[in-house]
Amino acid sequence: MNGTEQRDDDSRAERVSDTFRKLYGGSPDGVWAAPGRVNLIGEHTDYNDGFALPMALPQTTLLAARARTDGRLRLHSAQGDGRITDLAVAELAPGALQGWTGYPAGVVWALGEAGHPVGGADLHFDSTVPTGAGLSSSAALECAVAVAYDELYGLGLAGPELARTAQCAENGFAGVPCGIMDQMASVCCTAEAALHLDARTPEDHAQVPFDLRGQGLRLLVIDTRVTHDLGDGAYAALRAGCERAAALLGLPALRDLPTGELARALEALPVELAPLVRHVVTENARVTDAVSRLREGNAAALGPILTEGHASLRDDYRVSCAETDLAVSAALSAGALGARMTGGGFGGSVIALVADGREGVVAESVTVAFGSAGHRLPRILEVTPAAGARRLAPAPGTR
Ligand code: ADP
Ligand code: MG
Repeated sequence: MNGTEQRDDDSRAERVSDTFRKLYGGSPDGVWAAPGRVNLIGEHTDYNDGFALPMALPQTTLLAARARTDGRLRLHSAQGDGRITDLAVAELAPGALQGWTGYPAGVVWALGEAGHPVGGADLHFDSTVPTGAGLSSSAALECAVAVAYDELYGLGLAGPELARTAQCAENGFAGVPCGIMDQMASVCCTAEAALHLDARTPEDHAQVPFDLRGQGLRLLVIDTRVTHDLGDGAYAALRAGCERAAALLGLPALRDLPTGELARALEALPVELAPLVRHVVTENARVTDAVSRLREGNAAALGPILTEGHASLRDDYRVSCAETDLAVSAALSAGALGARMTGGGFGGSVIALVADGREGVVAESVTVAFGSAGHRLPRILEVTPAAGARRLAPAPGTR
């Protein structure tokens, strides 16, 4: 982290502490940060026990938190409706909460369900992760709570356990059937690296150096501002389709189908399932390929891998939409090395890998293309691989 980023973190930590004091009286025990993420490659693979390659974003959700001894859980977000939600930890139950509070409260519930001795807390959130843009603001919210509770209640849990707890909150409490990737990225990523995730054994993840700037590259995130709704059943249906295909093939998960057996499997499967299987198997291979290219120090070679991944999501998995397709094609026409939708799909964000100096032209071309097509204009950010969830204040080692 450079000096400017350190000062930004410090001043944001001070700001959320100030707001905490105004809301709840007295100081927080600490301030934690958890990032959003983009997935470079490996989409819809995590729930097939497969591979992914996410990186954390510089955009984070900050949490000022203080433990309470009376079992009350109070929640406030700068991005919420201004109210403090006051709950009893002992009464937390899946499905009982509507809206954003289900994500953080779900983490407290999930820790309790896993047998950890956790109580209440006063929590105030403030986030720079765009919400509903496929950049995992929900995981950032959950993972901030997971790392804060880990310290506040002295749990000593490892990163993948915290990620599992956060996923359990999203699945079991908030009712969103996501895989483990978002939470693993938010907790376990490190700066200047992408996270090689094996969803079957998250504890075996590896950091793959990803020195974008050093290799003369830039990464753009194009938020199409089309809000996905993964709760609408489409995601669950895709997931169920993959599970059915694996069962028909007699495999524990689609991850277990080797590329060499793909052609035979496709012939044996019902027509509606074959494209799903083709996507998952080829996508896992693309992750392996991307990791090799990065390890060789050839990040530019990710370009064609990203673009192939997009075609697979568009044509086989069918989770793209007009806006994400347009962002990809406009970025490529303007000279991007590769581009693809990232996240669950049905809108959300596109990433574009571009050579240093081309980022302005690509961003401009995508914006113009959206204007001509009559779409709402996209929000375009340039991102670098940032650190995973961590305590900001008091600074680690100063207590
Ligand atoms: P994504 O995770 O891609 O941003 P989701 O639909 O999974 O999209 O999660 C977005 C939801 O998470 C928001 O609608 C809101 O309920 C909740 N959320 C995320 N960050 C915050 C925040 N800082 N404050 C309040 N709610 C938040
Ligand atoms: Mg989410």
